[in-house]
Amino acid sequence: MLIDEETENKEIAKQYKDLLKISYLQLSAVDKKLIRLAFNTAVDAHKTQRRKSGEAYIFHPIAVAKIVASEIGLDATSIAAALLHDTVEDTEYTLDDIERLFGNTVAKIVHGLTKISHLKKDKDVSLQAENFRKMLLTLNDDIRVIIIKIADRLHNMQTMDAMPEYKQVKIASETLYIYAPLAHRIGMYNIKTELEDLSLKYTEPNRFDAIKDKIEQSQEEQTQYIKAFSKFLKTSLDKEDLNYFIKGRSKSIYSIHKKMQKQSINYEQVFDKFAIRIVYKSMPKDEKFLAWKIYSIVTDHFTPNPTRLRDWISSPKSNGYESLHITVMGPNNKWIEVQIRSERMHEIAEKGYAAHYRYKQGDEKDSGIEGWLNRLQEVLESKDSSAIDFVENFKLNLYAEEIFVFTPQGELKSLPQGSSALDFAYSIHTEIGSKTRGARVNGKLVPLSRTVKSGDSVEIITSQNAKPTANWLDYVITSRARNKIKSSLNEEKNKIAEEGKEILRRKLKHLRVENNEKTIQQLVLYFKVNSSLDLFYRVGLGTVDNRKLKEFATTYNNSFLNFFKKRLRAKPGKSIAEGEGFVSRYDKLVFGKEREELQYKLSPCCNPIAGDKVFGFVTINEGIKVHQYNCSNAVSLQSSYAYRIVPAWWIDSGEQEFTAELVLHGIDQQGLVNQVTRVISNSMNVDIKKINFQTEEELFKGTLTMRVNNKQTLKKLKQRLLKITGIEKVARQ
Ligand code: MN
Repeated sequence: MLIDEETENKEIAKQYKDLLKISYLQLSAVDKKLIRLAFNTAVDAHKTQRRKSGEAYIFHPIAVAKIVASEIGLDATSIAAALLHDTVEDTEYTLDDIERLFGNTVAKIVHGLTKISHLKKDKDVSLQAENFRKMLLTLNDDIRVIIIKIADRLHNMQTMDAMPEYKQVKIASETLYIYAPLAHRIGMYNIKTELEDLSLKYTEPNRFDAIKDKIEQSQEEQTQYIKAFSKFLKTSLDKEDLNYFIKGRSKSIYSIHKKMQKQSINYEQVFDKFAIRIVYKSMPKDEKFLAWKIYSIVTDHFTPNPTRLRDWISSPKSNGYESLHITVMGPNNKWIEVQIRSERMHEIAEKGYAAHYRYKQGDEKDSGIEGWLNRLQEVLESKDSSAIDFVENFKLNLYAEEIFVFTPQGELKSLPQGSSALDFAYSIHTEIGSKTRGARVNGKLVPLSRTVKSGDSVEIITSQNAKPTANWLDYVITSRARNKIKSSLNEEKNKIAEEGKEILRRKLKHLRVENNEKTIQQLVLYFKVNSSLDLFYRVGLGTVDNRKLKEFATTYNNSFLNFFKKRLRAKPGKSIAEGEGFVSRYDKLVFGKEREELQYKLSPCCNPIAGDKVFGFVTINEGIKVHQYNCSNAVSLQSSYAYRIVPAWWIDSGEQEFTAELVLHGIDQQGLVNQVTRVISNSMNVDIKKINFQTEEELFKGTLTMRVNNKQTLKKLKQRLLKITGIEKVARQ
């Protein structure tokens, strides 16, 4: 490609001037000096680099800075950091250089952005999730890191045409999975929408084009409709001396697409393709009053649907969004959503955090974002949640709509929709959560699992003796509560594991097996447990079979040989390649909370194998199809058909609980029943469901129904029962 340098330099200079012009915040002379220096530095740093498209690299940081300055409306520090965001990562410049030239704050933000870039962009979903977690960790330095990263991603998405197709799809899925929800949560709705639309453009181009065409075709019709709507209101609004404008707002391509998919309808059947916005000028003190005045005028002309009233003015969303939404029967008997908001609210809705920040001048703390950061911090600190759990929980919380619940003192708390009384307890304080005994909703005693609704008043009853149980995990949906419950459960487990570790050490010594990391790893595989912690825990509980441990010891010296034998037998690919070693320890797939065995097919698009992280997807014609979590179809399935996803796990069928019935025959004698029940209650992992004893003359017949964890346990129990004097026969029914 021939590049005319002079023309290019002119264009760079023009872009730079533009950047200063379009800044949303007023820039002082000092600000401009800082930005100028950042610009010069970036130009110098990237002077020899070009983007895939062939243009000079510097256009990218300038474009990102423009998004940061204008669309998001951040300060000069952020604009400078955006200009410099790729310097340390890609050029000779070091972080020390940046710090020397720009001081600590800019350097810290650039450092955060460099760290994010360093995370290897890998195909492995767990790795990606782990990266994401690390990325969020950098958030604690400065939220501007994340906002600039989103701007960076937006510009990359806008200029993705030069990339190979497989990369486009990968980047687009990642954007849908991570960046769009983040932008949403921070309240940057415009950017979120653009990210989603661009993602669709690359993941489903035909779909994207089709919807885009349709929207363009209906543009004229929409304009006419808004005109007709406005005409009805104009006289009444003008009479009240209101300073306002009325505008149409189209639903995004992505959200129309999602709606069509979700309800299996075509474009024409999507009824709320656009909304009407009434934006008015107001002094801060009159804002709410005017909103309801306009509401009253609108509903004088058009009948409202009372179930669709949303008052985000009295209770703003925690990201700062304020607006009054109603749906009315408009001209042509069409339901139409009307959003009423002041200019200030409008700016917050468009620009999100930054605008919010601007209106909250001074040192007033922004509780929404602060609270959000604090919650994130808590999740990040809990070391127990695996990276994938973390992302899943986090995503759940990002998309969940909020509800508002009152404490007995009348304080308002926001929770994700679907939260239970127990979630509420944990949201107040961990101490309260973990000591919860019961809950009263609106004065009535309810189960802890009861979902709370907006407007409920919730009182938590605590007791010093209460403590979390495993069941509680089913009662909560917030990651905060889940993590706190898990960590209290784990504390107990850790204690037992600690003892188990010591016991195992003694046993191995006795068996002359070297006690080191490698042996423990082999034992983990040998006993088909998930981790060394699980192994120690089982030893601590006493459920590890001593005979099997001895068997392990005898083959110990031949372990290398075994390893290669198994390796030969193992399926090629995955587990070995990823260094897991040995064959997979899972062999059965179960679905849903009840861990049911269902008919399924492994999806050919990602070919999951035993042990992979998978989920089931209910198809229309072919039953359940199982995909890997990191399957390229997973994101779109998960985001569009969440209701058709069934959780699935690989389990070790040897460890699956089952119900067994034993029938005992023998000669009745004194104390026999007592002995039988003692044997059973002394057996590990046996849970009695039903017992029935009958005697006829001196003959005895007993029927036992129980849940046992595996056949081995059942066999042992049978042997022990047979040892009881008088018992002749023990048979499985
Ligand atoms: Mn970049």
